[in-house]
Amino acid sequence: MSEQQQFDVVVIGAGPAGYHAAIRAAQLGLKTACIDAALGKDGKPALGGTCLRVGCIPSKALLDSSRQFWNMHHIFADHGISFADEKIDVATMVGRKDKIVKQFTGGIASLFKANKVTAFYGFGQLQPGNVVVVKQHDGSTVELKGTNVIIAAGSDSIELPFAKFGEHIVDNVGALDFTEVPKRLGVIGAGVIGLELGSVWNRLGAEVTILEGMPTFLSAADGEASKVAAREFKKQGLDIRLGCKVSNTDVQADGVHVAYTDASGAAQELVVDKLLVAVGRRAATKGLLADGTGVQVNERGQIVVDEHCHTGVDGVWAVGDCVRGPMLAHKGFEEGIAVAELIAGLPGHVNFDTIPWVIYTEPEIAWVGKTEEQLKAEGVPYKAGSFPFAAVGRAVAMAEPAGFVKVIAHAETDTVLGMHLVGANVSELVHEGVLTMEFKGSADDLARICHAHPSLSEAVHDAAMAVHKRAIHKAN
Ligand SMILES: Cc1cc2nc3c(=O)[nH]c(=O)nc-3n(C[C@H](O)[C@H](O)[C@H](O)COP(=O)(O)OP(=O)(O)OC[C@H]3O[C@@H](n4cnc5c(N)ncnc54)[C@H](O)[C@@H]3O)c2cc1C
Repeated sequence: MSEQQQFDVVVIGAGPAGYHAAIRAAQLGLKTACIDAALGKDGKPALGGTCLRVGCIPSKALLDSSRQFWNMHHIFADHGISFADEKIDVATMVGRKDKIVKQFTGGIASLFKANKVTAFYGFGQLQPGNVVVVKQHDGSTVELKGTNVIIAAGSDSIELPFAKFGEHIVDNVGALDFTEVPKRLGVIGAGVIGLELGSVWNRLGAEVTILEGMPTFLSAADGEASKVAAREFKKQGLDIRLGCKVSNTDVQADGVHVAYTDASGAAQELVVDKLLVAVGRRAATKGLLADGTGVQVNERGQIVVDEHCHTGVDGVWAVGDCVRGPMLAHKGFEEGIAVAELIAGLPGHVNFDTIPWVIYTEPEIAWVGKTEEQLKAEGVPYKAGSFPFAAVGRAVAMAEPAGFVKVIAHAETDTVLGMHLVGANVSELVHEGVLTMEFKGSADDLARICHAHPSLSEAVHDAAMAVHKRAIHKAN
């Protein structure tokens, strides 16, 4: 092993949480190293974590490709555009996705260089005394000592004991790389990943069946939003079966046989060509901590931290998917930046109440803050105003009339407590809610802000006006 190298900050993991922490720490003048074990499809080191390699970005690339194909089949004729012999070349589509991944993972390496973050490529293990031993891909070992260590090890897909990943049973990594459109695709789990990747292959012609264990659809979202989204998904041919408990899978010559009980408790079998298991992700802490570090791991495998992402061990912090809170890239971004700033003696803070959630299906689903169901359960008095995209000129002109915007405000103070959206581009519109909530704004503030016409954001404007029953473009 070479001589120990000393840094102000050593970051383990260069996913969204880790690379934000490393770049911000370096910007603040701290001597920073960042270690990542991942390799890209070409076998070379690839920074950027799950998000850039096999998560947020590649899934959006395939969602975009498949959307073009869907529109060609289902929407273009309404515009008077016709053509013959439409087909999808999966290899070209996946190749485009891979190019985007390469561009962005390479971009992190350039950002590290520009910010003087030293990258180490290999697996890092934290030892007692803030030492990280890195087993590099070339077989050598280096030892780094950090005045501070930030663990940003991320998460891995949960594998079910009766559905081992292989050629026919896959997680997100496999489902982003199918070589052809499966005729029948089964998905276990109607969460964000199951819905997004199920949508991709459904749009390209796969017969998609999603088995969800919960009795309600998208229970974390606003009830009305989940209902509208479920209706739209059904129209698109996604077969979502709720209350289904999968008990076994068996790969046979004619496909994967999936045994489950349905909502009535009856035994059922589904036979599919490919099965995507999307039942959640687990903190990636295997082999990460040597004995005696003092860092605690809870029963879910997450690293235990306080509200400032501190582990309780002097100089050791943890951020992103490997700690509590939503498994979202932008939650990791914010934690990474906040910890770097705390280390540099600045105030660092993450407002968990204003983290937006987005599901990039068609229509998109997005929200920030509380749902009506949560406010009722908490006994908080509120008023809600909603507005449908079907009454928004721009949405209709774009052939995107599905969905609505709902603004929820405190009944007495009018402070915005939540915004829930289903529709085109709501992944962008939700930030009106985030901003309003960050600035403790009211529904009236939002209603008095001039919104461009014609634009999708007019739905936000009218929904805010509807809170006080003064929406212009619908009966109140
Ligand atoms: C299909 C899919 C779609 C998604 N879409 C979205 C989306 O649209 N929006 C969104 O916000 N989130 C999305 N997510 C979730 C998002 O990808 C994660 O929340 C995010 O990547 C977590 O960031 P992280 O930095 O905590 O961990 P990761 O991105 O998992 O990165 C951790 C990195 O650390 C490395 N590592 C781990 N242990 C070690 C070690 N001991 N030594 C060295 N390196 C190590 C790993 O190799 C990895 O590169 C999606 C996830 C999936 C799977």
